[in-house]
Amino acid sequence: MTQYGKLIEEINQFNAQLIAVSKNRSVEEIMLLYQRGQKKFAENRPQEFLSKFEFLPTDIEWHLIGHLQTNKVRSIIKHIHLIHSADSLNLLETINHEAHRSAKNQKVLLQIKISKEETKHGFNYENLCSLLDDNKIQSLANLSVVGIMGIGSLTDDPGKTRNEFKLLKSYFEFLKSKFFSESFKEISMGMSSDYRIALEEGATMVRIGSILF
Ligand SMILES: *Cc1c(COP(=O)(O)O)cnc(C)c1O
Repeated sequence: MTQYGKLIEEINQFNAQLIAVSKNRSVEEIMLLYQRGQKKFAENRPQEFLSKFEFLPTDIEWHLIGHLQTNKVRSIIKHIHLIHSADSLNLLETINHEAHRSAKNQKVLLQIKISKEETKHGFNYENLCSLLDDNKIQSLANLSVVGIMGIGSLTDDPGKTRNEFKLLKSYFEFLKSKFFSESFKEISMGMSSDYRIALEEGATMVRIGSILF
């Protein structure tokens, strides 16, 4: 916990935001960080989020960062500020439908694969570009696509991580210039092990859990 102040200072220097990843943490642990001023928290599983959020202050801004199944969207959509893990057209269409039902405009990030690891979810960049070329995503009226998200490889080679983040940043610049406008401005990248590299490479949001709690 003593880390918190230093971490905030470091992230502020890059004009980025700390999204505190509270998965596997108790309501009490989250409250301690909240009392130090942290208002943005992220969960990766809808079930766990639903079991905790009602016991926490209503001015917390909740982010969803884990792979989301379409049948879970309805239960969480009213409560989530930003979905970082929009990783398929089918999921985007479901979110759009449920947002409409809830009379809401839902902010999302497009999760793009930057690691060759098979297990990582996310759009393949070329596939995403052809969906955008066909206006398939921009036409979803109850969605606001405000940026992109990526997860670096699990590696102890910082050069590899840096290259992946540089790649994500270049995707961002291209997508913004070709398909989006000023409201497309967020790059969610970097976790406990690689957030410093992510900040140096242009992250606007870092998702940090283990070193915080
Ligand atoms: C758990 C998780 C994080 C945070 O990871 P830490 O190593 O605990 O900082 C960030 N992003 C996603 C998608 C996660 O699932």
